[in-house]
Amino acid sequence: MLSADFLHLEQDVELVNRHADLFHLDIMDGTFVPNISFGFPVVEAIARMARKPLDVHLMIVHPEKYVARFAACGAAMISFHLEAALQDGTRPDEILQQIRSCGTKAGLVINPDIPVERLYPYLKAADFVLLMSVFAGFGGQRFIETTYDRVRTLKEEIQRQGLTCPIEVDGGVSSANAGALAAAGAEIFVAGSSVFKAADPVAEIEAIRSK
Ligand code: ZN
Repeated sequence: MLSADFLHLEQDVELVNRHADLFHLDIMDGTFVPNISFGFPVVEAIARMARKPLDVHLMIVHPEKYVARFAACGAAMISFHLEAALQDGTRPDEILQQIRSCGTKAGLVINPDIPVERLYPYLKAADFVLLMSVFAGFGGQRFIETTYDRVRTLKEEIQRQGLTCPIEVDGGVSSANAGALAAAGAEIFVAGSSVFKAADPVAEIEAIRSK
């Protein structure tokens, strides 16, 4: 939703309601990432109209402070960055558990420069994992090609551990790379600019879905 038109948010929420599977909400704090996005008033407004689940991606320090509040907004999925937890000195497995205890699916995220192996100890505690295919913090960046291999490697490890948690990919995702991402093992596709800046957003959603 970071790429939505905030002056006509209702229209873009309705587009997602009708054609997509979930609302991906990027929360940026100006500290963990240099950018600031939007906060509770916007999330609550979207939640009031949303007929698809809310997927809240926290790009913030101390995510554990805000988990309960985003869950109360109606988030069905909440993810946070492993890097944020490590830099805060908090335990990622405990934050995952905290998210689950709110009745919300818990996800762990890493930026493109963090080896996927760093996620392995936490896979059991996660309901999904999110690989950034651009660096967290800004919409509209170009997809990083090494993501395919990272998805493949992570998928193999998830299977090796006998788990089923889906891999979500976020950043520069479009109908041009969704097919190769799906083939590598990705299951949840976050598309911002490719959809909202498309001449025909519905056609782009359908094109991603068909891959
Ligand atoms: Zn995101």
